[in-house]
Amino acid sequence: MQIILVSRGQKGPKTLDLTCRRLRCKVAVMAVGGFLGVAGVGAALALAFSGSHGRPSSVAVQGSPETQAATARADAQRELNALAVKLGQLQAQSIRLNALGERLTQAGKLDDGEFNFGEEPPQGGPEIAPSGDLGAYAKPDALGKDIDQLSGQFDAQQAQLEALHDMLLDRKIESSLRPTGMPVNGYISSFFGGRPDPFSGHAARHTGIDIAAPKGTPVTAVAEGMVTFAGQRNGYGDVVEIDHGNGYMTRYAHNSAILAKPGQHVRVGDEIARAGSTGRSTGSHVHFEVWYHDRVVNPLAYVRSHR
Ligand SMILES: [Zn+2]
Repeated sequence: MQIILVSRGQKGPKTLDLTCRRLRCKVAVMAVGGFLGVAGVGAALALAFSGSHGRPSSVAVQGSPETQAATARADAQRELNALAVKLGQLQAQSIRLNALGERLTQAGKLDDGEFNFGEEPPQGGPEIAPSGDLGAYAKPDALGKDIDQLSGQFDAQQAQLEALHDMLLDRKIESSLRPTGMPVNGYISSFFGGRPDPFSGHAARHTGIDIAAPKGTPVTAVAEGMVTFAGQRNGYGDVVEIDHGNGYMTRYAHNSAILAKPGQHVRVGDEIARAGSTGRSTGSHVHFEVWYHDRVVNPLAYVRSHR
């Protein structure tokens, strides 16, 4: 597989060998398509120039016919080179967009059945030798068709990239609102569920997990949301509660200091309090609860998950 490059400094296309990795192969296929487009514009110009300058015997000329023809050829070649560079740049842009789209599809772990960045672009026409047989585009119709195809390719890419952008944005918002990771740097000293009450020793239900952390350790929001409560609650001591707007609410209790204010919008990782032992507590720790649609749930899976 080869990529064909056209640049200002070269009279003809240059070919590059690539190792045949999946993506590079596809890029190379597109590059060949790019060459077809470049050759097409060249052919049209060649036609135009051959009509006005290419037949010195049919028009009044100054100087020898050979000189006139050579000048016309040089002019045509300069125009061809300029157009070829332009079209080559457009094709390169298209290739970069496809590669970007494919990388995003993979990075976002999206179902790539919905996107076809990896597919060959809609290119047609006869196969052209790397030396550039411009005669293959003898009819302007063929050139117009190629440019239409390139234009359609850009339209399709734009539509797909916009859809991809929307999907990734939705996913990012969804992800930032879901409780994820530990609210404080420490170790889990008590789990969710049935346990003897630490004060009375009676059977009791622990509605969150306890994370042991020295007094003053920063307590951070585990998801984006709105602070709905910041103050004292019976048993919880100084507590902060955050509503994440998607059915989730998180609660951070026994703090030594509260930094967040009710109504404040917090982002993932924002410091909302400092760990402590206020309320019904035997030592410095964060009592962390996760509520989902008004039911308290086991926070363990959330604190152990990653973004
Ligand atoms: Zn607790």
